[in-house]
Amino acid sequence: MKAARIHEPTGPVTIEETPVPVPGPGEVLLRTEACGLCHSDLFVRSFEALPKLPLTLGHEAVGVVERLGEGVEDASVGDRLGLTFLHDACGRCEACRQEHPELCPRQRYTGFHVDGGFAEYVIARPRYSARIPAKLTPVEAAPLCCAGWTAYHAVQEAALPPKSWLAVFGVGGLGQLAIQYARLKELRVAAVDVSDEKLDTAKSLGARIVVNSTKQDPVEALQRVGGVQAAVCFVGIPEVIERAVRCLRRGGLLLLVGLDHQKFELPIVDTVLNRIRIAGSFLGHPDELRDVMDIACRGEAAIQTQTCGLADLPDAMEEMKAGRLAGRVVVKFD
Ligand SMILES: [Zn+2]
Ligand SMILES: [Zn+2]
Repeated sequence: MKAARIHEPTGPVTIEETPVPVPGPGEVLLRTEACGLCHSDLFVRSFEALPKLPLTLGHEAVGVVERLGEGVEDASVGDRLGLTFLHDACGRCEACRQEHPELCPRQRYTGFHVDGGFAEYVIARPRYSARIPAKLTPVEAAPLCCAGWTAYHAVQEAALPPKSWLAVFGVGGLGQLAIQYARLKELRVAAVDVSDEKLDTAKSLGARIVVNSTKQDPVEALQRVGGVQAAVCFVGIPEVIERAVRCLRRGGLLLLVGLDHQKFELPIVDTVLNRIRIAGSFLGHPDELRDVMDIACRGEAAIQTQTCGLADLPDAMEEMKAGRLAGRVVVKFD
């Protein structure tokens, strides 16, 4: 089968022939139909040390179960499943027992610890996979498994009452979805990006304030409405995060979602006196994945997608790195 792999940390992505994997106990083999390209794929490629090499990237894939491993009772041949970044968890720790596998300290990530979905076949664990409703196409559903789940959880995590202000920093795929999820909760949304085109999309999705941070200071723009109750940073750029903190009103919450290896600085006095809360937001609860699929089935949130073939993936990754992609690139398999 064909797969998009890297052989060394920070190395190039190559499309090559590899053997079709064999599902072990509790695993199934999926014939991949679609896999979305996520910023975290670039992040994984940027690691100096990876837990598995060579590694097939991709962690938002949809496919059909073609073969069952030993003891699989929660999936059948022909089921359509979605792979998320959470490949599996230990199933035994306190977090797992409380049905929070997303907090398991021994969790493994798809396209990081184990081979991912940029391949014609991929191994999945049904217990940790999304059930894909028949109403959604694989291309529609794939980005929801990472971008949708992550954006939805961040908006849930903000836990704001209607009419509150939520600022979305970065209007890529996750940002687009977060705006829509926030609007469903009747939040007022401010969107900040460096691209007028992406901000036009934000506006069409219901953002009340849009700020191009290359032309206008978001702190000034958002403090004009008294500051926002919560801000979500979908980009892991220190300067963006430091600015986002200053856009909050007192008692505000900053949620970090976008990944990067860098560090950011925080003024201690302002953080304490303004009772600023800062939290990481990663993955989501399994129930939230079901919510995301239901919302998409009702047509209440969707992501702009453009499809390409597996051979086009290396170029698409370069385009993403340069910030030239609008919406989600989804690799479609025949
Ligand atoms: Zn992702
Ligand atoms: Zn666990």
